[in-house]
Amino acid sequence: MFCLRHSRRSKTNIDKGQVVKKSIATLLLSLLGAPAWAAGNGPQWDYQHTGDWGTLRADYQLCKLGQTQSPVDIRGARSAKLAPLRLDYQPGQAELLNNGHAIELKPAAGNRLTLADGGFELLQLHFHTPSEELIEGKRYPLVAHLVHKNAKGELAVVAVLFEQGRDNPALAPLLAALPEQAGTSRPLAAPFDPAALLPTQRGYYAYTGSLTTPPCSEGVRWQVFKQPVELSERQLAAFQRLYPMNARPVQPLNGRTVLESGI
Ligand SMILES: [Zn+2]
Repeated sequence: MFCLRHSRRSKTNIDKGQVVKKSIATLLLSLLGAPAWAAGNGPQWDYQHTGDWGTLRADYQLCKLGQTQSPVDIRGARSAKLAPLRLDYQPGQAELLNNGHAIELKPAAGNRLTLADGGFELLQLHFHTPSEELIEGKRYPLVAHLVHKNAKGELAVVAVLFEQGRDNPALAPLLAALPEQAGTSRPLAAPFDPAALLPTQRGYYAYTGSLTTPPCSEGVRWQVFKQPVELSERQLAAFQRLYPMNARPVQPLNGRTVLESGI
């Protein structure tokens, strides 16, 4: 039984206590309920909130307002006389970085892509699971994006799609050096040739788009190889274990034409 006096005194204490508890609970809820990118040092983006990228920071607004965004579903490509892609890659020291959004390979300098309007240097290549781009509605389990830059700072990306099949020997040295923790990197044990990742047939789709991660900068020249290469279920699982889903949804073409090379 409660004595009235005791009960009254307790009620006041409980009221105060409840207010404090409620404030802590509200604070915890707001922290726990907030997107991961809201915690920590400034706004971070993630693949659970792709629709919010454009409002996270002023310099990310193209993610929301841009009209030539990537990735896209490549449908109804128009045949065109596109110059063959000239990729001059060679073996060199490389390191693998877990950048918190993807597994990224940083190659040595001197790997070049030459397009009709000049040369671009390979900056890095990284992987998305599943593929970001679709071909006639079909999504692939993995894609590699090889990101190049020219002297004017313009970007050109070459995409290599992967379908499930046999072990891909070109991926073996990468999977042997996967950095588990975000923000860490590991050197590859032996020189790596990015050309080992390319398909044997060099037919490709071409269109103008954007970076598929913030700040979603536009004016990026995209080249997507038509022929996929293979990777095994075990190799795919190794990527998926670290990044089960790091693909931005497809963006509207908004009247852009995708060109398709004859070969
Ligand atoms: Zn990418």
